[in-house]
Amino acid sequence: MAQPLYTAHLENKLLLSEPAQCYHLEFSISGLNSFDFIPGQFVSMVSVDPHGKEQTRAYSIASAPAGNRFDLCLNKVEGGFFSNKLCDMEPGQDVRFYGPNGFFTLRQPLTDSIFIATGTGIAPMRGFIQHLFPASGSESSPESGKDRSEGRRIWLVYGTRHETGLYYHQYFEKLAAEHPNFQYLPTLSRPQEDWKGLHGYVQDHVVELLKSRSNGNHPAPTAAGPATFDIHAYICGLNKMVSSNRQHLLELGWQRKQIVYERYD
Ligand SMILES: Cc1cc2nc3c(=O)[nH]c(=O)nc-3n(C[C@H](O)[C@H](O)[C@H](O)COP(=O)(O)OP(=O)(O)OC[C@H]3O[C@@H](n4cnc5c(N)ncnc54)[C@H](O)[C@@H]3O)c2cc1C
Repeated sequence: MAQPLYTAHLENKLLLSEPAQCYHLEFSISGLNSFDFIPGQFVSMVSVDPHGKEQTRAYSIASAPAGNRFDLCLNKVEGGFFSNKLCDMEPGQDVRFYGPNGFFTLRQPLTDSIFIATGTGIAPMRGFIQHLFPASGSESSPESGKDRSEGRRIWLVYGTRHETGLYYHQYFEKLAAEHPNFQYLPTLSRPQEDWKGLHGYVQDHVVELLKSRSNGNHPAPTAAGPATFDIHAYICGLNKMVSSNRQHLLELGWQRKQIVYERYD
């Protein structure tokens, strides 16, 4: 059966980073009271380009379900049709979309989880985190209800070059301060001198945190045995980063189904 084509109405727009030209867009869906999706899924935006050709692009939903609303986080790609169209929209304007789509969702039952993202790959992670820790997600109005993290340990390893590329930084910092089972690990590959956080690429820190976890009560995952399935990694961003992190985990003995990923290119 064909999916319905919805109209998203831009309610609010925030510039998250001037140098990266990254925007946070908040939409409501015209004629719909409730938009049912699973955190981490994407919408397929549709528009006609200047040559009269219909174009479709996927964008991860950067929020948890909240009535008929959803957020996006995207940056302008140089010369790119759709990213420029969306980032240049003004509140009050509409865009059409299909969805929700995709399988980049939290596996059940929930386990300890490492969220690994670079750049706008943070979008579905924000959706996961709003879903797991709804009471503290005060930026917009995420799902109501109590903490859904079930006491699992959740790590967010978020990499970018410069500090200006850490989107939603304060939101994640605040949440980490409020929830002992949520750890936020931002890491910069080209930090300025005054940066006091982690340096380097996301994969370096993933290995470190796995080591520290295996020193505690949790055995490190091995190729077989029950310990294997007590943790998942969720990776999102450009293909190069996703592939290298995935490869890294496979080499450490992780099984394929423990590694859930979404590639943007
Ligand atoms: C499942 C899925 C979810 C996605 N979610 C998001 C999201 O939440 N936020 C987001 O910003 N993007 C997301 N993307 C990428 C998005 O769909 C577009 O590819 C991107 O916005 C570029 O589209 P465009 O029409 O502007 O550029 P195009 O006209 O399609 O491409 C212009 C050039 O840019 C290159 N390019 C394509 N995508 C990127 C990129 N992301 N970064 C750098 N260069 C690129 C292309 O190779 C091409 O050479 C997602 C992609 C997928 C498959």
